[in-house]
Amino acid sequence: MVKSNTIDYLYTVKFDKLFYNLYLCNSLEIIYMIIETNRVVSMHYTLKDEEGNVLDTSANREPLAYIQGIGNLIPGLETQLEGKQKGDKVAAEVEAKDAYGDVREELFHIVPKSGFQGDEELVAGIQVQLDTEQGPMIATVAKIDGEDVTLDLNHPLAGKKLFFDVEIMDVREADQSELDHGHVHGPDGHHH
Ligand SMILES: [Zn+2]
Repeated sequence: MVKSNTIDYLYTVKFDKLFYNLYLCNSLEIIYMIIETNRVVSMHYTLKDEEGNVLDTSANREPLAYIQGIGNLIPGLETQLEGKQKGDKVAAEVEAKDAYGDVREELFHIVPKSGFQGDEELVAGIQVQLDTEQGPMIATVAKIDGEDVTLDLNHPLAGKKLFFDVEIMDVREADQSELDHGHVHGPDGHHH
């Protein structure tokens, strides 16, 4: 459904036994599509943490394009964008549980320092690539204690409350191939 910014109720006339509700736009407002499931949304965003550090931004890039309602975005942000339209600016605060989840203790693993290869010095805070049975994974070095290296396999944003500043640039219907693939095609999306 579409919604208009300004539709003024004008009057109701009785015509025989039928009522006709007449509505008149007081000017030719542009009617925008709102954000709903299966619509493609293009947006600019800046993501900050609780301390105000910028973690990610689409500034100086193409807008991010995603399909609403199919899990492209973290749920807490998707919920707050539902019903918004082109031109809207949204400041969304998303709790960790509605973003990348809480930090899970079982995703910390202690491994021997001798297992690491590479030129970079092993210090807490750096990210390392692991070759696992499920393929390569990125982990953060959480702690080094002698020969014991504690790796954190949580998502880097797990446990964090996130602050988004979003500007909606466009909303359109997704086409069938986009729904089949679960991602956006075209200028701001996949090319294939
Ligand atoms: Zn595709």
